[in-house]
Amino acid sequence: MAEPFIKSQFPALMEHSPELIYLDSAATTQKPAAVLEAVQAFYLHSNANVHRGAHALSIKATSAYERARAQIAQFVDAESPESVIICYGTTHAINTVAHGLTHQLSPGDIILVDGAAHHANIVPWQQLAKRTGAELYPIPLLKNGSIDLPAYQALLQRGPKLVSLNHVSNVLGHANPLDVLIPLAKTVGALTLVDGAQAVAHLPVSVRSLGCDYYVFSGHKMYGPTGVGILTGKRQSLEQLEPMMSGGEMIKTVRFEHSEFAGLPNRLEAGTPPIAQVIGLAKAVEFIQSLDRQAVAEMEQSMLRKARAGLQQLGYFVYGDPGNCHGALAFNLLGEHHQDIGTLLDQQQVAIRCGYHCAMPLMEHLGTKGSCRLSVAAYNTPNDIDRAIEALAIAKDMLS
Ligand code: PLP
Repeated sequence: MAEPFIKSQFPALMEHSPELIYLDSAATTQKPAAVLEAVQAFYLHSNANVHRGAHALSIKATSAYERARAQIAQFVDAESPESVIICYGTTHAINTVAHGLTHQLSPGDIILVDGAAHHANIVPWQQLAKRTGAELYPIPLLKNGSIDLPAYQALLQRGPKLVSLNHVSNVLGHANPLDVLIPLAKTVGALTLVDGAQAVAHLPVSVRSLGCDYYVFSGHKMYGPTGVGILTGKRQSLEQLEPMMSGGEMIKTVRFEHSEFAGLPNRLEAGTPPIAQVIGLAKAVEFIQSLDRQAVAEMEQSMLRKARAGLQQLGYFVYGDPGNCHGALAFNLLGEHHQDIGTLLDQQQVAIRCGYHCAMPLMEHLGTKGSCRLSVAAYNTPNDIDRAIEALAIAKDMLS
């Protein structure tokens, strides 16, 4: 499928076309018309709360919501729709796990966290460690930001209770070798969480084949609405979680003396869920499934290779492993502030992200306070990269 056709499905890109070059999809993707229409259609034609009303509209809303859950389950090859927990984003999903495991950890227990993790995959574990007396250790990285496998294996010998890994880094685009890292964690009996926020839009995911206990992602980074994210994984591991939030919907019976909680998924979904967003997310799944995913992945990778080569030719420093780059790449013009590059690109209508990308420890490891990040999605074209490189050449000229 030709990418201009894909771009034409995105009203916000078409509104600003051809001037705007959007290369910030790792922050959030644009939304195809089908997603916007599905959200609006829900409010126009089926709006009611789910699982509550005896009336026709509520039954309609409930069946659309549960159908969407089943589509999402199928998309990531989850164990079952019941093992797909609707959250509000990756951050909420990781907090749900970190809070839910509080009763399982004791002083001195070890938590290992990917050295390249996003803050959403660091701070909830720090808070868990604070609550329980557990100890948190980063998994060491090689110079280029990939996981240092021998150092990881050595840390595993300390018998961690939990290992939390990136699927794909939001800064470098590195995909972790989960087929190696997860089985290794399992051999020492650790629970595993995979942060798939940057993976689901770019790689096919089978949660069952990965074999992790928990897999989390956000809707808005895979062409879906904001305000919805997913926690899935092994049923037994999800059942171990004490609900972080309690209230309506997550109970079986309530008496003032004692309440009994419902089973999955309701047990972990207190309150009114983001119904329209879930329905929008199912449309985003359909959008992704309508693409030739292999062709899109190859196109995204070839655009990133082109960007890397262009940047290097101009004298920019590009971080990370060129052979393992999915969705995003980070760079700097050494001696210049990353924010200045971002501003000069913005003046030329090229949208990238600058800063520490919610990954301060990784930035420190790379020896910088921040970087520029360029990220691609299915709607980008090689022409977008040409435009970005032209803008980067102008930015460099203006700064030097
Ligand atoms: N994890 C990774 C790898 C991310 O890239 C992000 C967002 O940038 C998050 C977690 C947090 O996602 P959200 O803000 O949607 O909760």
